[in-house]
Formats: sequence, structure tokens, C-alpha cells
Amino acid sequence: MTPPFQLIAETAGGGRLGRLALPHQTVETPVFMPVGTQGTVKAVAHDVLESLGAEIILGNTYHLYLRPGHESIRRMGGLHKFMSWPRALLSDSGGFQVFSLNALRKVTDDGVRFRSHLDGSSHFFTPEHSVDVQIALGADICMAFDECTEYPADRTRAQESLRLTMAWARRSLEHFCAHRDEVIWRDEREGRTQSLFGIVQGGMYRDLRRACAERLVEMDFDGYAIGGLSVGETRELTLKMIAEVLPLLPKDKPRYVMGVGYPDEIEQYARMGVDMMDCVLPTRAARHGLLFTSEGRLNIKNKQYAEDQNPPDPACDCPVCRRYSRAYLRHLMQAGEPLSGTLNTIHNLAYYLAIMHRVRRSLEAGSSADVGRLTPNT
Ligand SMILES: [Zn+2]
Repeated sequence: MTPPFQLIAETAGGGRLGRLALPHQTVETPVFMPVGTQGTVKAVAHDVLESLGAEIILGNTYHLYLRPGHESIRRMGGLHKFMSWPRALLSDSGGFQVFSLNALRKVTDDGVRFRSHLDGSSHFFTPEHSVDVQIALGADICMAFDECTEYPADRTRAQESLRLTMAWARRSLEHFCAHRDEVIWRDEREGRTQSLFGIVQGGMYRDLRRACAERLVEMDFDGYAIGGLSVGETRELTLKMIAEVLPLLPKDKPRYVMGVGYPDEIEQYARMGVDMMDCVLPTRAARHGLLFTSEGRLNIKNKQYAEDQNPPDPACDCPVCRRYSRAYLRHLMQAGEPLSGTLNTIHNLAYYLAIMHRVRRSLEAGSSADVGRLTPNT
């Protein structure tokens, strides 16, 4: 069996061009993954996501566990089948939502007790339970259950949080290895099943980040994520943490920075050697009328666009920019029409996906110029 991740080329600056062969889709990396919180990338139909070139999207374990329920999704054939998305999926561990949406949560070494934000019912998540839910959902990539350290956190707090994250990583991995073949679908051709990624935490302390990365690498996950970033710290600090961790991660495994960022950030991180990124920004901002364009950020609600016949981004080749004017998009937003969120989101996602496409092509060209192409699997 060929290894799931193949490094195709690498530049002197650390940028990596790769290919991640997941059971439902081979993903070209670096890749941006649109966020599909509740089994949907808000406001965009799946055929459109496919036509934009989205190869992998996220599903949120916390939300899908609460509604419609992971057992229900398993009975219906898993998340791919339930939501009719044939390409790759990544599920988060639920940890981030448990910690960010629940003021009344109670954390012990065993796990986290929290109340549903939907109906107030009480739930208990352990690393084992998070993995069980993710196996029921059946995403191509699952994430270890972690505690996302808040910002700011003093050193003692960050250390304690990290202790928990590392203990939970080990438990997640052990449980996953014992049950990974229980997923409802089978990749008959290659015999592949789900993957599990570990998550590097450690707050904004470089030595804690390093210690966490080293321990997780010893545990031998299928891939490594850097979490707990973009939580209020400066961009310079985000960059420092990523730069600290990347060299410690094995070259032959995918590297994923969670929850970043603005267009220039995702480009920068991809050029440093980050293979995967996700962020709600392009979709959430779109619903509020903020468009990312080659000319900068454009707030489509502004009066100056009331009779502007130009496309949202003259340099963009997406179906929205090919067909509609800024004036029309502004009108839809003013009138509160649902099509507004749809069209704005399609453009923003196309813009983000185009950045990664451009970076991949430039990594390809750059690598042959400076260090030469690598043969697969080196
Ligand atoms: Zn566009």
C-alpha cells in the first residue's frame, strides 16, 4: 500500500507540495478546508463546493453529536452518505466547542462534563467517547480529544492544560487503534481506514509547544495538528509558535494548523510548510457582507457599491464574479435575501481555494528552481 501522504516537492523556504491519499479523496496539499459545522458549509450546496474544487471539508463532532446524533448518522451509513458528500471529510474532536460554548463545563482528568447549548441536557465527553463518536461519523480524518488552552493563560495553567492534552492524546490513540476498523464504510481497493491526528497545544510557551510536539511524535499519529492558535494572540506570536513546532514534526506526515486565518496568513503558513488549514472566516465573513478580493477586503454593504457594475473581484474567475455585480450583491444584502449569503460565500471560498491553488503551483515551480524535485516517498 502506498503511504497516505506523499511529499512531492519541497522548497528551500520549507514549503511543501504533497498529496494526501484519503479513502474518499486524494487531496492536493497545501489545502484549505472549508468548515461544514453541522454537516453543511453554510449556504452552499455540495455540487457547488465540488465545482469550486473543495477536496476536503470539516464536520463538527460536538454539533453532530448533539443533533442529529452520531448513532443516528451511523445508522444512515455515516456522515459522507448522510450529507451526500463523496469527497474527504475531517471531524474535529468536539473539544474546542465543548470549551468555547460551555461556560458551565467541569473538567476532570477523566473528561469534560458540559451542558448542551441546545436544550441544557448534561453530557460527558472523554477521549474514548470523542473517538467513538468520530468513528460513528466516519470522517476520513479524526482528531485526538484535547483541551484548547485559552489565551491569555499563565505558565502554570498552560502546563496543567498540556498535561491533560497529552494524557488525552494517548487515550485517544489507544482507543482509536483498538476500534478504527469499526467504521461503517470500507475502502476495498486500498484497504485504508480512518486516520487520527494528534494536536500540539502548549499555549504561547515555546518550550511547552516543543515538549508537546516531541511527545506526540513518539506516540506516532497519522498526522499532526497545531491547535490553540488564533485565539486572541498577535499574529507575530501565532507565527512564532508555528515556526517552533514545524521542524519537530516528521516530514512524511501531514501538518495541519487549526482555525487560521486571513488570506495572507494562509498563504504565508503554506509557504512555511503547513499542509492543511481550516477557518470559518471566509464563510462567516461572507454572511456579514465581507468579501476577500485581490484588491483587499470589500464590505459589500457600503453605499459606494450601490450602482457599481463591476464584479466583486475583477481578477476572480468564480461563478459569482463571472455573473453578478457589486451593486446586485449589495442589494441582496440590503434586502435580507438568503441568496446574499450564498453568493458571498461562494466567492470567498473560491478566493481561498484559489490562493492555495496558486501556492501549490508556485511551490512546484519554486522547488524545481531551488532544490530540485523530490522523488515520491522521500
Ligand atoms: Zn469571485
